Amino acid sequence: MGEFELINHYFAAAPCAQGGEGVALGIGDDCALLDLPPGEQLAVSTDTLVAGVHFPTVCEPLLLGQRALAVAASDLAAMGATAIGFTLALTLPDVGPDWLGAFADGLSRMAQRCRMSLIGGDTTRGPLSITVTVFGRVPAGQALRRSGARPGDLLCVGGTLGKAAGALPLVLGEREAPAEQAEPLLAHYWSPLPQLELGQRLRGHATAALDISDGLLADCGHIAKASGVALEVNLAQVPVSPALQAFLGPDGARLAALTGGDDYVLAFTLPAAALAELEGVELHVIGRVLDGQGVTLRDAQGQDITPAQRGYQHFRETP
Ligand code: ADP
Ligand code: MG
Repeated sequence: MGEFELINHYFAAAPCAQGGEGVALGIGDDCALLDLPPGEQLAVSTDTLVAGVHFPTVCEPLLLGQRALAVAASDLAAMGATAIGFTLALTLPDVGPDWLGAFADGLSRMAQRCRMSLIGGDTTRGPLSITVTVFGRVPAGQALRRSGARPGDLLCVGGTLGKAAGALPLVLGEREAPAEQAEPLLAHYWSPLPQLELGQRLRGHATAALDISDGLLADCGHIAKASGVALEVNLAQVPVSPALQAFLGPDGARLAALTGGDDYVLAFTLPAAALAELEGVELHVIGRVLDGQGVTLRDAQGQDITPAQRGYQHFRETP
């Protein structure tokens, strides 16, 4: 099958590539065209997943399709944006029709959940790598940035943490677990749900936000730095799922929740007064914003128990 046949059969014909709100022109021309309502800004983000680095070389293509789009769409959630569409730059080894069909199916499932359309891409031959660029819209000036946290604000997260890090030994085949533990962890790893509705609800309330991809403490460090403040996390308030507790035990679960990557849960700051206006929204207060810099983890007695290793980085900072 040639390049154009492949694009047409698996991608242009996929349910997620049939257009939608905001898509004036999809796959087939030199560019896609997007319509933005007056007064809105375009939010753009790109993410690459490389086989053997971000996912095991041998894995289910349907799950991979879901995950590739979910991790990219999570950045739109973190900005408070509404998803419009995405492009797909795919580098493929010699994969067969079953692989392509299942991968496109996974993409379409996640696209439907996030209400976004596949609008273009690029297809090349080489070691498996997937780059997804997402496009969203947000009312001008209302995007949730990392830089607005103020001393006195509360620090919150949008769900339990550490499940994807807990799933990693299962994904890599290094460990096994009973189904009631393994299933929720694997589901979160392969099909994280970008918190798009939460991000949109937080517009006008949150002072800073991001999605946790490299671990809670590491990512809180980005808010602290961009906002010029200190963040304090109270260990006892960090939400951990029962499945993760059962699988890793309390200490292991805590470590995964604090430093494990791939959560794609939102972390954000807001003034305490905003809590009343966010009734019904899943949020967990885990700490507060103070004058100063950096991130401190405290135990129930208020002792500083900040671990040395805070998260994952592809390129380490030189000391
Ligand atoms: P060009 O050479 O003009 O860059 P291509 O020949 O690479 O265009 O692609 C033809 C059309 O198919 C374009 O609209 C492009 O966006 C789309 N496309 C290519 N690869 C993919 C893909 N993997 N998924 C979705 N659309 C794709
Ligand atoms: Mg062209």
